[in-house]
Amino acid sequence: MQFDLTEEQEAFRAVVRDFAVTSIAPRAAEMDATGEFPVDLVHAMGDLGLFGLPFPEDLGGGGSDYLTYCIAIEEIARVDASMAITLEAGVSLGAAPFVYFGTPEQQKRWLPDLVSGRRLGAFGLTEPEAGSDAGATRTTAVRDGDEWVVNGAKTFITNSGTPITQNVTITAVTSRDAGGRPQITNIVIPAGTEGLVVESKYAKMGWRASDTHGLVFQDCRVPADHVLGAEGDGFRNFLRILDEGRIAIAAMSVGMAQGCLDEASRYATERVAFGRPIGKNQGVAFRVADMATAVDAARLLTYRAAWLRDQGRSFKKEAAIAKLYASEAAVDATRSATQIFGGYGYMDEYPVSRMYRDAKVLEIGEGTSEIQRQLIASELGL
Ligand SMILES: Cc1cc2nc3c(=O)[nH]c(=O)nc-3n(C[C@H](O)[C@H](O)[C@H](O)COP(=O)(O)OP(=O)(O)OC[C@H]3O[C@@H](n4cnc5c(N)ncnc54)[C@H](O)[C@@H]3O)c2cc1C
Repeated sequence: MQFDLTEEQEAFRAVVRDFAVTSIAPRAAEMDATGEFPVDLVHAMGDLGLFGLPFPEDLGGGGSDYLTYCIAIEEIARVDASMAITLEAGVSLGAAPFVYFGTPEQQKRWLPDLVSGRRLGAFGLTEPEAGSDAGATRTTAVRDGDEWVVNGAKTFITNSGTPITQNVTITAVTSRDAGGRPQITNIVIPAGTEGLVVESKYAKMGWRASDTHGLVFQDCRVPADHVLGAEGDGFRNFLRILDEGRIAIAAMSVGMAQGCLDEASRYATERVAFGRPIGKNQGVAFRVADMATAVDAARLLTYRAAWLRDQGRSFKKEAAIAKLYASEAAVDATRSATQIFGGYGYMDEYPVSRMYRDAKVLEIGEGTSEIQRQLIASELGL
């Protein structure tokens, strides 16, 4: 068994860490306070090659393995969750459907701006009445000559209303089978299409500089060639996208937990109470030790899932295990770090306050913890 990263992976980690620390970290608090979506940072991540990282070079990608992509997400999340989720959603949810299900023509048309980070793609699965039960999609698409006419709504869609959003790929019911079961298809809706209404951005607990909107489709017409993958395969295809995306969310969780561990260990040696650093108290030191243990376990589970995916092996259960464990470890780590910072941890001038708010959604997005447990249990035959 080999636990070392390759020299290339280590070198790439150093490059992304340097970028995260010098370009993102100094702006993270202000972006959180204003909710500003930083287009320039997205383009800078694009210039580093992050948006095409795990995709084949002949599609304009970086040809890296998934583990390298996870390392990049981890390093960005270590300093700022909003930029990490912007990247994760752009790659795993925005571009990946075109890579896996697009025709060569569709890939040629839609991918260049997504893999370069010039523009962003969004993934519209969740609806007001269909979240965990995503198969309960109510959005419909009806064929009318050479066009599809889409009606319905999507909710909580990341990267869907930025100035550089290229498209949202959605699930829509396009027909019913003989038993009346809905046939769900993926359809690409370009930004700016008539009948696509982008609602105001949400006021969120965290991920404040990440862009999230509800979308409404009112007789929204797109050409017939905007169907991605085969008609009727849309739900299954999106579940495949989510299986892989969960590894990236696990990596984001590892990064956030590591960021909290860094902050808490430093603070525990600097802050003095009762005449000595607070870390000299076993009550504080053990808390830091527990954080370090959970970060290690979360990272190993995440890298294993990425490795399985890179080997072309089955990774559905392992991705769910990594996402479940790492997201809960991240939430625990942010709570512990805030506790170690005491009253200062409650103040926005310290990053742990923002991280505490940013972490919670890791247990919700791309499948809640309950859905991960359900999936793991079902893989175990229960
Ligand atoms: C900031 C943010 C960004 C997001 N970005 C996107 C995006 O880009 N694209 C997208 O499509 N979606 C996105 N989502 C949506 C996200 O994936 C859903 O919120 C999530 O899947 C849960 O769906 P829901 O909110 O409808 O909750 P519900 O499904 O209503 O669940 C409510 C609660 O009930 C529990 N529950 C439901 N069913 C069961 C069950 N069978 N057994 C046990 N417990 C159950 C859930 O675990 C949860 O605790 C985003 C969400 C947020 C908050």
